[in-house]
Amino acid sequence: MRHLIDTTDISVAEVDQILETALDIIANRQKYSEVLKGKKLATLFYEPSTRTRLSFTSAMMELGGNVLGFSDAASSSVSKGETVADTVRVIGCFADIIAMRHSKEGAPLVASHYSEVPIINAGDGSHAHPTQTLTDLLTIRREKGRLNNLTIGFCGDLKFGRTVHSLIKALSRYEGINVVLIAPEELRLPSYIRREVCDKNNVPTREVTTMEEVMPELDILYMTRVQKERFLDEEEFERLKDSFILNPERLKAAKEDMIILHPLPRVNEITRDVDNDPRAAYFRQVENGKFVRMALIYNLLKWSSERSESKITPRLRGELVRNDWRCSNRQCISNMEDVDKLFHEAADGYRCAYCEAKVKNNK
Ligand SMILES: [Zn+2]
Repeated sequence: MRHLIDTTDISVAEVDQILETALDIIANRQKYSEVLKGKKLATLFYEPSTRTRLSFTSAMMELGGNVLGFSDAASSSVSKGETVADTVRVIGCFADIIAMRHSKEGAPLVASHYSEVPIINAGDGSHAHPTQTLTDLLTIRREKGRLNNLTIGFCGDLKFGRTVHSLIKALSRYEGINVVLIAPEELRLPSYIRREVCDKNNVPTREVTTMEEVMPELDILYMTRVQKERFLDEEEFERLKDSFILNPERLKAAKEDMIILHPLPRVNEITRDVDNDPRAAYFRQVENGKFVRMALIYNLLKWSSERSESKITPRLRGELVRNDWRCSNRQCISNMEDVDKLFHEAADGYRCAYCEAKVKNNK
């Protein structure tokens, strides 16, 4: 059985298969309109995210399947303190596949350990959001025709931006990727991601502080929101905020066929007068999100029926250390529910298997 907890839990070949299916769905909508007739998707949204939930719901409906679930933990029995492990064991009796959104980081991974049906991580705190990453990959594939030999600039909040971390991880598995990081000092990409993802996979990575200096080289510009709350110093924010706004003037230096992506919602980091530029792909990206979720649900169910593999996701099958250390992340599921404390060894010490944060009382 296959779950989708993080994009790198599935192989490049499997990612490519999902993208191929998505392209086939786009070309042959009718062919897929009843393929999941009689199947049920449960959307377990412990924290509200209307657009992600609607994207999953419409994806399942367009495959001919049905949807059940809740959109907010407060309105369901889970608010009575039921653990994630118990909830998925119960829901697995009613549904064929589960999409889970949770504010506790690592919750979908815990769910996958106990579930008898495939689990899709629909976003866990600020940790991972793999269906956004698949959406980004499908958009790049459709817009550029390939996932290799691309120079991609990431602009804005690269420290906390989970979509950025996840897309860098996913793209680092393809050939000829060049990464350019465009961020203020306070919001630079965490050095452990640079070391463990970019350096380890030999992805040339460069850091700059303005988009002007790299704009002509980029095939893709991935914009993110720079939030005031992220800055310790308000004056610093005021000084920097305009440098990370994309406007038609800055776009003049870009290639004719560069594409602009943004995970949305945006605030003001892309001015509205960019929207009509053919390079602005961020609204097309939303529609791709539905197609890629259709392809994902379809393939996870297909793989589960065809393959007799372990139901434990690869992340929990690797070399893990069981210990009574504490994860340093207060939002981690391991600090909130009674789960096995599991850690893996990274270049800079031990990290939590659920959320990848560093360990307290590390040896
Ligand atoms: Zn953790």
